[in-house]
Amino acid sequence: MRPHPLESMSSTPPSSASRKAPAPPGGGRDGGSAGGAPWRNFWIWILAALLVNYVLMKYVFPDEGARPAIPFTVFKEEVARGNVKFIHGKGDLINGRFIKEVTYTPPVVDNAKKAAPALHVTEFTTIVPSFADPGLEELLHAHQVEILVDPITEEKSPIWSILGFIGPALLIVAFYFWIFRRAQKEGGLGMGGMMGIGQSKAKRFDKATATKVTFDDVAGIDEAENELKEIVDFLRDPQKYTRLGGTAPKGVLLVGAPGTGKTLLARAVAGESGVPFFSMSASEFVEMIVGVGAARVRDLFKQARENAPAIVFIDELDSIGRARGAYVIGGGTSEQEQTLNQILTEMDGFSSKEGVIVLAATNQPDILDRALLRAGRFDRRVVVNPPDKTGRIAILQVHTRKVPLSEGFSYAEIAAATPGFTGADLKNLVNEAALLAARNKADQVSQKDFMDALEKIVLGPERPILLTRQDRERIAYHESGHAILGLVVPGADPVNRVTIVPRGQALGVTYQRPDSDKYNYQEEYLRARIIGMLGGRTAEEIVYGTRTTGAENDIEQATGIARGMVTRWGMSKELGLVQLAPKQNEYLGNNYGFGGTKPFSEATATKIDDEVQRIIEECHAEARRCLTEHGTQLEALAKALLERETLDEREILQITGLPPAPPLTAAPLNTGSRTT
Ligand code: ADP
Ligand code: MG
Ligand code: ZN
Repeated sequence: MRPHPLESMSSTPPSSASRKAPAPPGGGRDGGSAGGAPWRNFWIWILAALLVNYVLMKYVFPDEGARPAIPFTVFKEEVARGNVKFIHGKGDLINGRFIKEVTYTPPVVDNAKKAAPALHVTEFTTIVPSFADPGLEELLHAHQVEILVDPITEEKSPIWSILGFIGPALLIVAFYFWIFRRAQKEGGLGMGGMMGIGQSKAKRFDKATATKVTFDDVAGIDEAENELKEIVDFLRDPQKYTRLGGTAPKGVLLVGAPGTGKTLLARAVAGESGVPFFSMSASEFVEMIVGVGAARVRDLFKQARENAPAIVFIDELDSIGRARGAYVIGGGTSEQEQTLNQILTEMDGFSSKEGVIVLAATNQPDILDRALLRAGRFDRRVVVNPPDKTGRIAILQVHTRKVPLSEGFSYAEIAAATPGFTGADLKNLVNEAALLAARNKADQVSQKDFMDALEKIVLGPERPILLTRQDRERIAYHESGHAILGLVVPGADPVNRVTIVPRGQALGVTYQRPDSDKYNYQEEYLRARIIGMLGGRTAEEIVYGTRTTGAENDIEQATGIARGMVTRWGMSKELGLVQLAPKQNEYLGNNYGFGGTKPFSEATATKIDDEVQRIIEECHAEARRCLTEHGTQLEALAKALLERETLDEREILQITGLPPAPPLTAAPLNTGSRTT
């Protein structure tokens, strides 16, 4: 029972898409060769080598073992009988041919086994025992056995044995060579031999060759887009700006949550600027070999300067740009520092007249080294926010360009249903909807496909687990508890959907969604949220008088908000407007810096705990009061849920006969303990 996925305070929806690693800017000049083709080549070569090997072994240098081996005594008998035409020897081994075929039955070695079949031998091989009688030569002479010196065997064997020794080694060397060359090619700017390690692996995009991303592909993040358009404009026509003595910015730092389109913007700049564009992910600077990072930076900037005006793009800057000295534990630190220092040096080393602009992207600006952020380096910061509703409409339009949409499709409705979604999330949504429609064998993608896809993304896929009748009933009451409170607590978000079909991690889900994007939360709203979250457990308590583990997630979320109210948002009278927890970093998690030391005393810690507890208790009491008051509606909703499993907003209102929750009145802000 883990409802309210959108109720978490984070503005990022729990979509996996936003967490995935950004795609590298594709389609560089050598980008094509980096894919499957070279590997296919490689396997073809291996196969060919194996084939050649096989042919050689089979026909040119046939295995002597292919001749049947006979005992030395049999051989001697045949010699004595004059039945051996010729032999040629090789060490202890004698190969030869009988004049007449000899039938020979190998002795039974193992009693359990059947006797081996008799062999009919003409070509034979045998081994001369080291204690062989010295009279063999005379015997052979006496019976006129030709003793051959096999020219082929004599001639080819040394070559082949040498080859046999060094062949594999050669293969390995060739393999390394090939890998190495490939790595170099990938660098895109292949220079000679072993020196390539320190060379930057930057991919260079030129206007003609790159798969073009343009500003038309970017939507919904207009401020950021305009800022970058200006940069592009500057590179195209510097005079326009320098006329009055201004200079171009040296560095532009794109800052924003994952999936908001930072890398996309950079690619659009590459596509539109018409100047050489060097792109590199910061993690590529840092490798196992110490000193390589700095060398690569140097090389990258050198190339850029030689090709100026040019743009250098460093993606995921935080992986090297984090504050120096902050992470002393673990390896790689000094390497990272050296690399960072080199970047700082390089950025100071050129003047903006040279026309090199450094573009960088990060989703963790707060951990960047301050030296990077000072004016003269990344002096412009472009914040890329998750899009608002209008922005989401625009992004949906971009990504549905090639998707046939059915009649009556409403972008606005989808955009309204996806607050907090980033561009990447929306792209993923479009894709899921298209896949759903395809699975249903439809020709067009409908509104419903989108809604179903959305549900799947936000709530997780349906999970077919069998529950007992009692479990289902309990879940129905639990979810109804959430839903009723969503209807009666002022300020609660509208309840869009309740279901007791298990999805993802949850056994049941109550889905509430704000009417419009929210950027600022009133205290009363936060309380309404906590009350709603506790509604599931409270309903169970009222109906059954017992507790289950099903409220774990509810409790976790409620506690999170209550703690935030006390420690971050100054909503507790007891503790006042003191920041007691560091600003939360959505992507790093948080526990008071690295030593785990709290910036406050034990006494304060106790107070915080007390206050959090007080808020939760108050909300719990309120939930109990509301649910007791609306017992009949709770009952009705649970019954309906057991019958129909899923109810939408209209059905919920109809069954309970309740109006949607009243909005928050703009009451004077309550500063703390109000209902004690
Ligand atoms: P990040 O900010 O993490 O670098 P990306 O630029 O890699 O995000 O975005 C991933 C994908 O999501 C892009 O390739 C693009 O298809 C889509 N996307 C993200 N933001 C937008 C946007 N504002 N407009 C259109 N598509 C977007
Ligand atoms: Mg990116
Ligand atoms: Zn719950």
